[in-house]
Amino acid sequence: MHIFKFGGASVKDAEGVKNVVNVLQHKGYTNTLVVVSAMGKMTNAFEKVIKAYIEKDTELDTYIAEIKTYHTQIIGDLFADKNHAILFEIEHIFGLLKGFMLANRSTNYNFIYDQLVGFGELLSTKILSNYLNEIGIANQWLDVRQVIVTSDDYRDAKVDWEETKHRISNAIVKDQLYITQGFLGATKDNFTTTLGREGSDYTAAIFAYCLNAKDVTIWKDVPGVLNADPRAFSDTRLLTQISYKEAIEMAFYGASVIHPKTLKPLENLSIPLYVKSFIDLDAEGTQVKKGADVVPLTPCFVVKNEQIYLQISALDFSFMVEHNISNLFQLLDKYKLKVNLIQNSALSFRVCLEDKYTNFESFLEEIKEKYCVEYFKNVTLFTIRHFTNEALNSIEKDKEIVLKQISENTIQLIVK
Ligand code: ADP
Ligand code: ASP
Ligand code: MG
Repeated sequence: MHIFKFGGASVKDAEGVKNVVNVLQHKGYTNTLVVVSAMGKMTNAFEKVIKAYIEKDTELDTYIAEIKTYHTQIIGDLFADKNHAILFEIEHIFGLLKGFMLANRSTNYNFIYDQLVGFGELLSTKILSNYLNEIGIANQWLDVRQVIVTSDDYRDAKVDWEETKHRISNAIVKDQLYITQGFLGATKDNFTTTLGREGSDYTAAIFAYCLNAKDVTIWKDVPGVLNADPRAFSDTRLLTQISYKEAIEMAFYGASVIHPKTLKPLENLSIPLYVKSFIDLDAEGTQVKKGADVVPLTPCFVVKNEQIYLQISALDFSFMVEHNISNLFQLLDKYKLKVNLIQNSALSFRVCLEDKYTNFESFLEEIKEKYCVEYFKNVTLFTIRHFTNEALNSIEKDKEIVLKQISENTIQLIVK
């Protein structure tokens, strides 16, 4: 089985959908499962809807209508029949969305978020699946929520691997083409969950692992994994091959080209991951597999913005050793703050973290009871793998460095 994943950028309009068909025709599509994200920036658009729904904003209906118009426009560009059945399917999906909003009594933000945000993936996969059928490419639309079973940690759901493997093996038969949604799962009670923003790559890896797939290809708007994000750096180089471990390090520190959770399931079964351009189908791209760290060996730059940097010391003048540190980590875990770097000295514990779930203010309130805290919001964490002095100088110059940490082949800098 081959697993393909197409992200939002690859299906942002009718041309994009037609290009997916092009990729499938070029590469072959029997025995293939295609994971698709929401079209373009639709997940952000749904986040706006969720906020408006929770805040009882009078613009709610306008935001929903904008999403509907976006999709119906794409349908209009793809299907000649102006009464095509896809329009009724889309209407039905919007009916389910409004039905949830009317019936819901929960005030749990994360729960509501997951029940609503995934409509983006339901819409994109319905459109692609119908279009493929329309042009004679038979395929099965698979509701991923029937097969990926997760915990009820809404917005950060954990996969129940045993149950998921069982369901996926039963649902997928050989020699077919499947179209399914990235990013989503469901609890055993059938409530929709999500795997975290940008989680569709991870969905591809979940299927690959459960099916022991031959390979996974994620189709991107870049030529592959580069030694830096081309949006932030000029003169980037294509990495033709990287190891799973290297990819994990780069993704974990912020190389948003691959979701960090994608790599481990693939590494465990030695399933190769190809990162390829959806524009230049025959270009080499990047292979992630066992072997050399990075080919060619070159410094790799990763940037993470919107970090918070804290310096914490104890109010009772005690040292920042085991007891205090373990207490702080319990609180970091409690408030779901993601730690990206730590450094410790006798009197001060320094940490760089990310506040994905907007819990920082509550965390701060609680730690201030016992600790003296100084912090800076909106700092940037630079990571350079396989650094050279020249690479380091290029980052350091003209910047105010708050902290620098060096290990064997990695340098990290926190910059104000
Ligand atoms: P998708 O459409 O699959 O969601 P993303 O936009 O999430 O794709 O990922 C592709 C983007 O990742 C690229 O456009 C690029 O700006 C960014 N990116 C960040 N780091 C890297 C890197 N090291 N190599 C290539 N692209 C990178
Ligand atoms: N649509 C989701 C997001 O934008 C998942 C993904 O694209 O990977 O976060
Ligand atoms: Mg993405």
